This record gives sequence, C-alpha cells and structure tokens, in this order.
Amino acid sequence: MIPAGASDPLPTLDRLAEVAIAVFDEHLNSAECCAICGTGCGTGWPCEQVVLADHNLAVL
Ligand SMILES: [Zn+2]
Repeated sequence: MIPAGASDPLPTLDRLAEVAIAVFDEHLNSAECCAICGTGCGTGWPCEQVVLADHNLAVL
C-alpha cells in the first residue's frame, strides 16, 4: 500500500517551480551583476543560480 499523496509527484514539481520562481525574483540583474550572489560581473548575468533555476523550469 502506498500512503495517499506520498507518491504524488505534483507537490514536488510545484515546490520546484516555487523555488525556481523565488530565485528569479531574488537573483536580479543589477548592472550585469547578480544582486544576491554579486557574481557575473564581467562575464554577465545570469548567475549560476538563475541558470540552474531555468533548467529546473525547463524540465517541468
Ligand atoms: Zn545570483
């Protein structure tokens, strides 16, 4: 027997989307630098976190 809801993948996917959207909201492009990471300067935004979040959304 599988507990109700325990094997349902939808909550996990919803959570993944929430996290990805939160990353987009926080890791903003600030003069070609990430406002959170402070990285990307010189090489350009997006930072690694935004790239990962983008990949996460791409597989949903
Ligand atoms: Zn960042």
